[in-house]
Amino acid sequence: MKNQIDEQDFQKAISEAIIQLIRQPPITLVLQRPFLLILISHLQLALRHPANNGCCSESVRQFIDAMTDEFFTWSPALLELICRGDDPHYDVLNMEIVAQPEGAQRTCRVCGCTDREPCKPACAWIAPDLCSACLPAVSRILRP
Ligand SMILES: [Zn+2]
Ligand SMILES: [Zn+2]
Repeated sequence: MKNQIDEQDFQKAISEAIIQLIRQPPITLVLQRPFLLILISHLQLALRHPANNGCCSESVRQFIDAMTDEFFTWSPALLELICRGDDPHYDVLNMEIVAQPEGAQRTCRVCGCTDREPCKPACAWIAPDLCSACLPAVSRILRP
């Protein structure tokens, strides 16, 4: 019974907080474009959850489409990549994301991690010589 009351309080607190959020001004975000791509891929994964089919998921789908139209249509490869994000067939393990020549050892140019010794928590290759753990660091360096 106690848990039920706590849950009701929690739901009420959320409603009140969301009403406050609506009254607050919009936020302007500044993102590096590679991070936007990563964000889209994670949203696509969340959208594939079978129970994720409410009106919020439709808004997220529209956000993905709008961002894709605005920033990625210049690259057929990126369009294909985003397309594959909706297809579970292309879900891959970290090691398989960037193809490499047989026997070659990839090394991150920032942290020096490798296929055999990835970062903790585990990273993925977002370019042949850059791992996902280092993207925030690179983004900071690139920021004017
Ligand atoms: Zn790295
Ligand atoms: Zn790494």
